[in-house]
Amino acid sequence: MAKAAVAGVDVAAVEEHLARYVVSCPLCKGVGQLGVAHEECKIISGSDAKDGISVVVVLCKRCGYLMTLAAEQILPKKAAGPRVKAA
Ligand SMILES: [Zn+2]
Repeated sequence: MAKAAVAGVDVAAVEEHLARYVVSCPLCKGVGQLGVAHEECKIISGSDAKDGISVVVVLCKRCGYLMTLAAEQILPKKAAGPRVKAA
């Protein structure tokens, strides 16, 4: 089964970010109840996929609020991605 190449998320790094900045849920103000998605998503504005922004999805386990964080802000060490960028 050919699975699409999805970038894995460094969950530990995201959790560290959430803890460091004491990120709380905007809806219920819960702290420390956020679940981190293990796969990166991509938000694409317009039609050019190269302009897409990689995001990490975080779910509040308390109220179910879903939020996204820009992956490059949280995971600065990450390389450009699994795919080699064409020059
Ligand atoms: Zn919440």
